[in-house]
Amino acid sequence: MKTLQRTLTIIKPDAVRKNAVGDIIEQFEKHGFRILSMKMLEISKHQAEQFYAVHASKSFFNSLTNFMSGGPIVVLALEKENAIADLRKLMGATNPANAEEGTIRKKWASTIEFNAIHGSDAEDTARFELGFFFAGFELAK
Ligand code: ATP
Ligand code: MG
Repeated sequence: MKTLQRTLTIIKPDAVRKNAVGDIIEQFEKHGFRILSMKMLEISKHQAEQFYAVHASKSFFNSLTNFMSGGPIVVLALEKENAIADLRKLMGATNPANAEEGTIRKKWASTIEFNAIHGSDAEDTARFELGFFFAGFELAK
């Protein structure tokens, strides 16, 4: 049985720079995601390090957090049955070279790093990430 889930997505600085925001949000709506909240902001290097703390030991951590704090991002709280896995499917593979046709990364990602979009990967990370960017009162009922 599929359950109603919430997930957090980020339209990353590379995609904002490419004027892809409208196209990506249209994809969310076309695929049945309900937008519970949405905002554009810039995060600091420190905030990017906190958000991506699970990757702190990776070789790409410094570069990733510079990238994510290097320009405006758009964050959305999304809701749908099976939202977490369905969003990951719509995003496509981390490396756009492996992303399937019709996915957001196939269309907008440039490299494995500058890959246009983030999506929570599990229920516990979705909870952490939604709470990182949104207070409960900011989410639509
Ligand atoms: P995200 O967490 O942003 O949704 P993901 O879950 O597909 O992406 P992760 O393995 O969690 O991929 O990596 C987080 C992010 O770090 C990637 O989206 C990408 O921007 C960057 N990244 C991942 N692997 C590499 C790499 N080998 N070199 C450079 N950057 C990378
Ligand atoms: Mg990830």
